[in-house]
Amino acid sequence: MDLYSGYINRLIEELAGLPGIGTKSAQRMAFYLVNLPKARVERFAAAVLEAKENVRYCRQCCTLTDQELCPVCSNSRRDEKTIMVVENSRDLAAYEKTGKYEGVYHVLHGAISPMLGIGPGDIRLKELMARLQDEINEVIIATNSSLEGETTAMYISKLIKPTGIRVTRIASGVPVGGDLEYIDEVTLLRALEGRTEL
Ligand code: ZN
Repeated sequence: MDLYSGYINRLIEELAGLPGIGTKSAQRMAFYLVNLPKARVERFAAAVLEAKENVRYCRQCCTLTDQELCPVCSNSRRDEKTIMVVENSRDLAAYEKTGKYEGVYHVLHGAISPMLGIGPGDIRLKELMARLQDEINEVIIATNSSLEGETTAMYISKLIKPTGIRVTRIASGVPVGGDLEYIDEVTLLRALEGRTEL
């Protein structure tokens, strides 16, 4: 399959390994990239490397950030006693875009999936439980309404219940399997307002 150069093939392979990128898109991107001026390509490569080297997890909520504490956790006006648990930093961003949620977050970086061999120890659950040592009024579980998201929600609620902290689940106006980030703000807010006790 050496229709192109080996270098192009390697680039296509790398690009095709990215989420949501098929071989055709990867080919299109590879040709686009090699035709760009060298300075643009260097800027692009530097952005990837610098992001990798400088991005870290927030000490408190585990979201991806440049600082020790993310902008939400370092904002003293946020209600630190209400924690919304989301699967990833994109979900956090989706809720932040609504501008209506005043609590803080906890980012799990995944969901429990027996099928994929992802257990409770593979997501940031320990970190969440450690945060519950402080005085917390409510934990809102906002994992996706996929099978994995529901499994995770059930697991977390069972863990937290004995502590006596109020545990709620966002309403399932969210389409099954739907990533939170693709859902419009009105639907997100409705899901939050319609949350139910677990
Ligand atoms: Zn944070």
